[in-house]
Amino acid sequence: MNIRHRPRKRFGQNFLSDRNIVAKIIQALGAGPQDHVIEIGPGQGVLTGELLASAASVNAIEIDRDLVSMLQQKFAVMESFTIHESDVLKTDFNTLLSAQNPVRIIGNLPYNISTPLLFHLLAYLHGIKDMLFMLQLEVVDRLVASPGTKNYGRLSIMLQYFCQIEKLFTVPPGAFSPPPKVHSAIVRLIPKTSDQLVLQNPVTLEKLVRQAFSHRRKTLRNNLKGLLSDEELSALNIDPGLRPENLSLEDYVRISTHLEDKDG
Ligand code: SAM
Repeated sequence: MNIRHRPRKRFGQNFLSDRNIVAKIIQALGAGPQDHVIEIGPGQGVLTGELLASAASVNAIEIDRDLVSMLQQKFAVMESFTIHESDVLKTDFNTLLSAQNPVRIIGNLPYNISTPLLFHLLAYLHGIKDMLFMLQLEVVDRLVASPGTKNYGRLSIMLQYFCQIEKLFTVPPGAFSPPPKVHSAIVRLIPKTSDQLVLQNPVTLEKLVRQAFSHRRKTLRNNLKGLLSDEELSALNIDPGLRPENLSLEDYVRISTHLEDKDG
């Protein structure tokens, strides 16, 4: 690159500089000539160049205008490359998806928007084959957390309801320039098929989980007051004296099904 770019903190710009890690990420995605890839936050294009070498097309979404024009120049000859100057949180992914050919999404994500972005993407899972993300290690640990652990909460339950999630490997701060303050990890999310999703309306689950975790240290009896009685919880085989982190995803789905039935 001829022009030097000064990393912008407000856009979470920690660029990958370790070629071995780049190779490991590209290998983990394993995109082939039939794959259409969306890259979130291409930055200076360290992953983009590798993706263009193997995938059928790459649509990249980047918020930083200077990086957008750099990438336009860098990959000008690549017909399979399209760059969208946009805030990914405001991007309507339906414009980039095709029902016939689900896309593969990849991104070394800006850490400040990773949780809202994961929730944003839940609306588009019908057109997504899989997602491979670099995230702050702590967020990955929350994504894969099991019941009864301190990392288990709303993010774990909602994302595990919709996706199979696998933590692949961790990445130290030294792999980036500038190095972030925290460790990172690579995670793969594969959307479940519609027959694996038993709820008619996942909004019921979302509301339930939000209310259940409104006070983490309080019991379900307290947190779910007004929504479910002790008797209803007991009839569902759930002890109202438990804390929200003690319930499994299956427990939350069972309660949601009961709420859906109750609302008719
Ligand atoms: N992929 C590059 C790499 O691995 O070196 C850059 C990764 S850097 C952690 C995150 C990138 O996301 C930056 O290029 C940043 O400008 C971009 N970005 C930050 N916020 C964004 C947003 N809301 N929408 C789209 N891109 C964003």
